[in-house]
Amino acid sequence: MTEKRLRLLVTRRWPEAAESYLAERYDAVFNSNDGPMTQEALSQAFDAYDVICPTVSDKIDAAIIGTAPQRTRLLANFGVGYDHIDLAACKTAGVAVTNTPGVLTDATADLAMTLMLMAARRAGEGERELRAGNWTGWRPTHLTGRQLSGKVLGLVGFGRIAQAVAKRAHHGFGMDILYYSRSVAQEAVEKDLSAKRVNSLEALLEQSDVVSLHVPGGAETQNMIGAEQIAAMKRSAILINTARGGVIDHDALALALKSGVIATAGLDVYPAEPKIPAELLEMENIVLLPHLGSATVETREAMGMRAAKNVDAFAAGAPLPDRVV
Ligand code: NAP
Repeated sequence: MTEKRLRLLVTRRWPEAAESYLAERYDAVFNSNDGPMTQEALSQAFDAYDVICPTVSDKIDAAIIGTAPQRTRLLANFGVGYDHIDLAACKTAGVAVTNTPGVLTDATADLAMTLMLMAARRAGEGERELRAGNWTGWRPTHLTGRQLSGKVLGLVGFGRIAQAVAKRAHHGFGMDILYYSRSVAQEAVEKDLSAKRVNSLEALLEQSDVVSLHVPGGAETQNMIGAEQIAAMKRSAILINTARGGVIDHDALALALKSGVIATAGLDVYPAEPKIPAELLEMENIVLLPHLGSATVETREAMGMRAAKNVDAFAAGAPLPDRVV
């Protein structure tokens, strides 16, 4: 198969530079109206394209992948998370999967800090008050929040993004770092961040002023933070989620925020995006962002180019740089 004849589908609009790169090299089809793909369209795409470049809004399940070989041999995902793709089915069907690790680490860590600061300092509440014309002026007791410096940040998962958050929080904001992860981080990393590993999730939740989630989505982490875990947190605690919506039981979270079991939360991701649990929308003590973790011009372009490099390797018959399956 020559490079020119490789048929490729990009399921959502990508930054211009990345689309141009693919268009110059492959028989590439782009989603010009940028609407989400239907399951039927994705299913048909498996028969029509050698490579599909999906993203988090595409649910690529076993029904779409099938068991008999289809035309698609590579899913070059735009994003580091791949819980929207059934990896076991891909393996069985002989479909390779790649992702885009690393290039979105800083942007996502920045967004976790944004949520942390917004939740701690009640920035959303303040902006809503001002825009509604309800601000009556400066006063010593107006919208007082919490300071991050000197507080304990508990990280659930301690991979690339969690470590980048720890770096910002420790060196920039003077926070103390605890982490819970199945594996132990390198000694040099722990030392640089003065990070201490705790043996159980419960211990981390009990000791942290801010808890930030950085595990992958999927069956293993589904509802990892439920009513019991939230109850283990401090009443003054802040819960931040830039990982995946399924990691938190949102009914339990809504109840806990309403009844003061924890103080506040900041979310970037939700279980059934773009739907937002209705109760959360009505609450003042939660910050809600629309899945903006990697949303910088620089990062989105780098993600597109990273996915494109995986397509290049596939086209050349070379090892895939970011192979997941
Ligand atoms: P990563 O480097 O692979 O880190 C994931 C960490 O989670 C690892 O430290 C892993 O360590 C730990 N982990 C996995 N399963 C676990 C479990 N069951 N219990 C405890 N720890 C577990 O990935 P990353 O690049 O930091 O990205 C993390 C996630 O962030 C992605 O999977 C993605 O879903 C999400 N993300 C969201 C956005 C956004 O826009 N909001 C942007 C980028 C990424 P062990 O395996 O050793 O436990």
